[in-house]
Amino acid sequence: MDCLFCQIIEGKIPSDLLYQDDQIVIFSDINPQAPIHKLIVPRKHIATMNDATAEDAALIGHMVLSAQKLAKQLSIAEEGYRLVWNTNKGAGQAVFHIHLHLLGGRVLHWPPG
Ligand code: AMP
Ligand code: ZN
Repeated sequence: MDCLFCQIIEGKIPSDLLYQDDQIVIFSDINPQAPIHKLIVPRKHIATMNDATAEDAALIGHMVLSAQKLAKQLSIAEEGYRLVWNTNKGAGQAVFHIHLHLLGGRVLHWPPG
């Protein structure tokens, strides 16, 4: 499949891999928007959050809890961090394989713009 994140998951494109298990991989964003910017990506190809179904509930829960665990490991849990799902072009989604952004290590302003 012609999908950048599927190719990263398959090891065809290199990444700064931090974690992997049977459901997800976590790697550093190539164009970080904060000192800490990681991507939590399911092995399953789901194009956008609009395409997730009840069948994916446990997977999505695992993604969120893995992000929380990583935030604690990276010592940003107390100061604060942000989890972001960009969905479709109007929200800035550029890679159409869902991914949860973990951003932290600086003050994150609101609204995000
Ligand atoms: P989004 O705009 O929400 O679809 O996020 C896609 C993210 O993927 C962006 O933050 C990009 O910087 C990041 N990205 C694109 N190509 C790569 C890559 N080869 N390795 C790691 N991150 C990437
Ligand atoms: Zn994919």
